Amino acid sequence: MIDTHIHADARSGEDFNEMYLSGIDAAVTCAYYPYKIDNDTILLNHLMRILNYDTKRAEEHGLDLKVALGIHPTNTSVDGEIIYENLYEWIENKEIVAIGEIGLEDLTQKEYEIFERQLDIAEETKTNVIIHTPRKNKEKVLDEILGILPQHISPEYVVIDHINPNVVEKAIDSDYTLGLTVQPQKMDKYEAISILDEYGFDNFLLNSDMSNKASDPLSVPKTVRELSKQGFNKKDIDKIAFKNAEKFFNF
Ligand SMILES: [Zn+2]
Repeated sequence: MIDTHIHADARSGEDFNEMYLSGIDAAVTCAYYPYKIDNDTILLNHLMRILNYDTKRAEEHGLDLKVALGIHPTNTSVDGEIIYENLYEWIENKEIVAIGEIGLEDLTQKEYEIFERQLDIAEETKTNVIIHTPRKNKEKVLDEILGILPQHISPEYVVIDHINPNVVEKAIDSDYTLGLTVQPQKMDKYEAISILDEYGFDNFLLNSDMSNKASDPLSVPKTVRELSKQGFNKKDIDKIAFKNAEKFFNF
């Protein structure tokens, strides 16, 4: 299995070990610093830590950790230029599989600026983006994101993440890949399965978004097992367990 969105820097080796033992071979870890940083060097250090340190920690437990880096909307108090320069380098060196997670949260002017700049870099370098949608105000923010994307990036590079039953209708007819996050206080496995049952398995990725907030490192295997238990066919289950992720991220 592949967990397509985690925050490895906030988690222990024990979590990686449990994930690996439960059948997760690879995960994509995303950038997010859970505190307002107004200094670019500190944010850059956070990103370098994920790239050079957390990947090794995960590897020690068998987990193949792929990396997405960028400026999360929570961290948009920075200037950004140093991060953009580094993004070009990481992409060129194939050190990252996506720019992410990026997106909008409180809809400030700075958030829009930094989000749009990173979409442009992704389009220019033909790189995937992992786009965050917030817990609160999700519908409005998703509308904003759906309004912005067509002017900046081709849909094939985009996954819009943390889609839930309340907003899935808005995004389902687009050509974007959609992320389903099974996490306490966000969405449970039954809600994720109801979305897959209704809209099919082709356009979705599955993840735990395990982070510093309440999380279940095993939410991907638990959802996959529940799908088996409910009798969904193996071909569909394989799509959501790993095939769609392999295809989207080009693993
Ligand atoms: Zn996240």
